[in-house]
Amino acid sequence: MRRAIHVSLVVALLLAFGLSAAAQDPADYQRPVDVAPTDEVIGEGYVTPEVQRPRSLAPWRQVLDMALLGGALLLAAWIVLKRRSRRLAFALTVVCLAYFGFYREGCICPIGSIQNVAVALADPNHAVPYFVIGIFMLPLLAALFFGRVFCGGVCALGAIQELVLLKPIQVPPRLDRALGSLKWLYLVAAVALAVLPAAGRDFIICRFDPFVGFFRFTGPVHMMLIGGAFLLLGLFVGRPYCRYLCPYGALLSLTSRLSWRGVSITPDRELDCGLCNKACPYGAIEEMRAVRTSCLACARCYESCPVHLSCRGADAEAAS
Ligand code: SF4
Ligand code: SF4
Repeated sequence: MRRAIHVSLVVALLLAFGLSAAAQDPADYQRPVDVAPTDEVIGEGYVTPEVQRPRSLAPWRQVLDMALLGGALLLAAWIVLKRRSRRLAFALTVVCLAYFGFYREGCICPIGSIQNVAVALADPNHAVPYFVIGIFMLPLLAALFFGRVFCGGVCALGAIQELVLLKPIQVPPRLDRALGSLKWLYLVAAVALAVLPAAGRDFIICRFDPFVGFFRFTGPVHMMLIGGAFLLLGLFVGRPYCRYLCPYGALLSLTSRLSWRGVSITPDRELDCGLCNKACPYGAIEEMRAVRTSCLACARCYESCPVHLSCRGADAEAAS
């Protein structure tokens, strides 16, 4: 009962948050100067460049992207919680990296949308499209029901780190916890800078996104180097950006705390043999159970569990 009340409260808060952000009235654009110097006044053959406007996404593309995101979240939940298949989870990760990462160039990004939503709540002159609200809310709502399935199979930033993980080492738990608190500081700093008056406003989550340059095959040199350093570190330390810096991961850890379902390492009964203890590259298994707030729903731990493997063997026998 208490759990149901908790979940309803969080859902109601999320909805109120989203709707109020979308309901702001955008003010008409005011040009900051009355008279701009003309080409003649500037002289020396100066030609005023044409105003560049970003292309807006066609409405049907927005609906399609929302549907794909929602569908991918449901599929990830089914694969990880019901099918319990690492192979399918990995396949979904690759497909989502290809679409949301390389094809859509990292632009369907709940992580960056934190800033848009924060500005809309703080500034009555700023409105956020429902599309962005949906992108912000869907993974959080999914986490309320199924845990961090967005991280496990859908997020392009998580996927690129998942693919490079070669030989994971265990980070000592105390160091892991200390580094894990950085993402909260980053979240606070990102929101604080996003809600500054327009002249000083900064969207640091997007400006310092370490992987978007790879998705677009271009970017500032220093960010490409930082992204490369994260990927090099990620060969041995499982998903360093996700665990220690991602501000959206901080929000997901909050909502997944209340999740209705989550990863359970064995399908039904626990053996408590301890074989899973070292299986998780993300330090998300404590006392032989997956911790919902930090479990990234990658399905790796199933492969270490004798009960899971014997169930799979029995299924294969029955099928043959
Ligand atoms: S922690 Fe952040 S970057 Fe990592 S998978 Fe989750 S949302 Fe994506
Ligand atoms: S407990 Fe670890 S290995 Fe298992 S699904 Fe969660 S993050 Fe992956």
